[in-house]
Amino acid sequence: MSIKRVGVIGGGQLAWMMATAAEKLDIELVVQTPHHDDPAVAIASETIFAPVDDATATATLATRCNVVTFENEFVDLKALAPLADRGVCFRPSLQVLSPLLDKYHQRCYLQQIGLPVPKFATLEDAAPYQFPLVLKSRRHGYDGQGTFIVSDADTLQQIVASASIDTFLVEEFVPFVEELAIIAARSPNGEIVTYPVVETQQKNQVCHRVIAPAEISTEVATQIQEIAHKLLNSLQAVGIFGIELFLLSDRQVLVNEIAPRTHNSGHFTLDACECSQFEQHLRAVCDLPLGNAALRAPAAVMVNLLGYEDAENDYLVKRQQLAALPNAYVYWYDKKTSRLGRKLGHVTVLLDSTKAVEKVAQQVESIWYAQL
Ligand code: ADP
Repeated sequence: MSIKRVGVIGGGQLAWMMATAAEKLDIELVVQTPHHDDPAVAIASETIFAPVDDATATATLATRCNVVTFENEFVDLKALAPLADRGVCFRPSLQVLSPLLDKYHQRCYLQQIGLPVPKFATLEDAAPYQFPLVLKSRRHGYDGQGTFIVSDADTLQQIVASASIDTFLVEEFVPFVEELAIIAARSPNGEIVTYPVVETQQKNQVCHRVIAPAEISTEVATQIQEIAHKLLNSLQAVGIFGIELFLLSDRQVLVNEIAPRTHNSGHFTLDACECSQFEQHLRAVCDLPLGNAALRAPAAVMVNLLGYEDAENDYLVKRQQLAALPNAYVYWYDKKTSRLGRKLGHVTVLLDSTKAVEKVAQQVESIWYAQL
């Protein structure tokens, strides 16, 4: 049976960016999301307005589509289990998500299948603490929220006491030389497609830029491709997965984080690849042949447009200036309010080589962050 309606749990920009691919593949998107002004409401055939962890709403969603997928991982797996037992088709499945949603469980799983990870422990087991360390909320962290780089015991105490988080993961501070990422897709019959490895640049734990392809050796690129294959095959995963990694000075690679969904490090694929991560995800969950993940330009840089003030503003003039840059593609998520650090949009610029990355990224950032 061909899949015509895909249910998406979550209605943020990741669901919104599936729209063009859905239209191309003649697929309707039914979205479950809490707010009327969430980005994907505008592109959904139908919306169920409910929090993403509301399994009763997901039961309704499931009656309106052939397959249910996820645009974020803040779901309640236990509450969804009876739906899967009743035959609701989740892609990726709940079993695949189960070791990934809690960062401590995720690290344990990666270690168990033999992938390299930073040294880690629960907060309780990590004592006596070695500083600096990285403290992470085990669940519901995103864009650096819930990740703290801690240099002394007093600060650790303060964060643990003040945060409204009950369980933490503690890990070694990794002195990486570069952060890398790879997007990989697996279809129900086990076909795997990987995108070129990219460099990601974070400030204060938030992604600012993504550079495709990363300037790394063939050995490192191969090692990362192998990590992606091993992970997706071990999980028997279906759909797109984002894998974030640390590159060390001795060329060792450690896996930082797995996102069981489309990922910010793959936004460049919308314009720089034949088949975007969003189309690839829909192809995988609908059991269609996977698309071509090759770059169609020698290089690309993606710059996030992050909120720098509290405001209600559509920043039209800045967006027009950005769109006027050569080979630039501007995406605006149409969020109604801007907040410090909030992802409001992104720009991808296709380039003749990675040599131009720094100059072009600075140009984008000087337009976007200019105070008028
Ligand atoms: P999130 O889920 O919020 O994206 P991450 O675990 O990916 O959180 O961390 C965000 C950023 O924090 C990383 O991209 C990296 O820059 C930094 N970071 C995370 N873990 C470590 C670590 N163990 N050592 C050094 N830096 C880290």
